[in-house]
Amino acid sequence: MRTRVKSPLAPFSAFFAEGGAFFVDKRADLRIIGSVALENGARMGYNVGMEFQDIVIGGGASGMACAVMLARKGRKVVVLEAQDRTLKKLLATGNGRCNLSNAAVSPDRYNAPDFVRYALESFDGEKVSRFFLSVGLLLREEEGRIYPYSLNAGSVVNVLLHAAKAAGVTLAESAKVEKIIRREKFEVYAAGKKYVAQNVVFAAGSNATSGRDSLSLLKFFGHDVTPRYASISYIPCSCVRGASGVRARAALSLICDGRTVFSGEGELLFKDNALSGILAFEASSRYARALRQGKTCTGEIDFAPDRTREDLEGFFSSLDCDCEQALCGIVHRALAAAIAKKAGAKGGARLNAGLLARTVKGYALTFDGACDVKNAQVVCGGLELSSFDPQTMRSRLVPGLYATGEALDVDGDCGGFNLHWAWASAYTAAKAIVGDNDD
Ligand SMILES: Cc1cc2nc3c(=O)[nH]c(=O)nc-3n(C[C@H](O)[C@H](O)[C@H](O)COP(=O)(O)OP(=O)(O)OC[C@H]3O[C@@H](n4cnc5c(N)ncnc54)[C@H](O)[C@@H]3O)c2cc1C
Repeated sequence: MRTRVKSPLAPFSAFFAEGGAFFVDKRADLRIIGSVALENGARMGYNVGMEFQDIVIGGGASGMACAVMLARKGRKVVVLEAQDRTLKKLLATGNGRCNLSNAAVSPDRYNAPDFVRYALESFDGEKVSRFFLSVGLLLREEEGRIYPYSLNAGSVVNVLLHAAKAAGVTLAESAKVEKIIRREKFEVYAAGKKYVAQNVVFAAGSNATSGRDSLSLLKFFGHDVTPRYASISYIPCSCVRGASGVRARAALSLICDGRTVFSGEGELLFKDNALSGILAFEASSRYARALRQGKTCTGEIDFAPDRTREDLEGFFSSLDCDCEQALCGIVHRALAAAIAKKAGAKGGARLNAGLLARTVKGYALTFDGACDVKNAQVVCGGLELSSFDPQTMRSRLVPGLYATGEALDVDGDCGGFNLHWAWASAYTAAKAIVGDNDD
């Protein structure tokens, strides 16, 4: 029997509170569990026999979108979510505004353009807009970034939960999946219960920020996992010391193995050990991809991108003061000190207009490796892509298994590209499942 929720934002855990002792066999080795796990599970307290057509593992962006799309086609779907509430991460996205797509979505904004191409073409900006309209959400665009009209991530969570309820999706919260076994059908074990279905959509996301890494659940089936690194995050860098907390509009370039892989303008936020702010986040995915390929990266900040070096030299030449004071007319005092130091001019040193202009236009940066995954918004790495069909998100190794979103080794640039991938991959999997089972 399908359970419907009472209110879009009400907790769903009550439905699952009854019955079944929680059982996790910590000694269990997934490689050798095989067919004995079911008997063990049943004997040791799993509630047997909740049957669905499709099980979605992970109630995040891609999992919930996929569940809604499947249930709207009349399929009996359950979402198993480890946390006490679905869509928790979505609430924190875009600084609470949820930048859910971008007008400039294209394969080259992702690490794996060939893999994402089909899904992005099938679920383009217009489809995103139509999908969200269909669940009752108006969108708005700001400089290419797409947001809910309310500029509030809570609106996106609200409408997705409402749509899930209306379509009859069963939600199981605080239901961390511990085992997946495939016999004639899939048997999925979570929080003391066994769920059975023909298809599994693996939408368990990544370990970025407070996320958990559940990819080992699929290693048992032979799916390889590429190492995970921070992708969208601050960039570790200790070469603008003394300006922690200062923001500046500037241009940033990233040069990896002699090639400029990123250049852009925007806001930088300086920290003693990192470059942060929207511009650093935009650069960070390119930086992560280059590090992953073993490249060496350096950077350069232009603190006055709309002025030529000659302009600045003229300006500095007209002043009668020391270097640091001269720089105070262009940047925050803390940055003036850092730039003067970089130019080799100690406090009170005579002003060298040419040298100062060159340093303002090209402040050289060296970076200090990768950011910790736990501090990243998005990670690169994940389920190895050659084992999945990009036109269906279906596993090439396990019939009936699909993967979506950040669980796959797909990461996009900062600016709504990652959530767009979550929706597009969910749509591609749902379409394939509905088509595959259309008899
Ligand atoms: C602070 C922050 C801000 C961000 N802002 C943006 C933004 O503005 N725009 C943008 O495009 N992207 C943004 N992102 C990235 C974006 O949120 C992710 O790329 C996207 O949520 C990935 O969707 P997903 O469905 O693959 O995974 P998730 O949304 O992470 O969902 C995965 C779900 O699976 C659950 N799960 C994991 N393991 C299990 C298990 N064993 N059993 C049951 N459930 C499990 C998790 O609890 C989680 O709820 C941001 C990320 C963060 C952290």
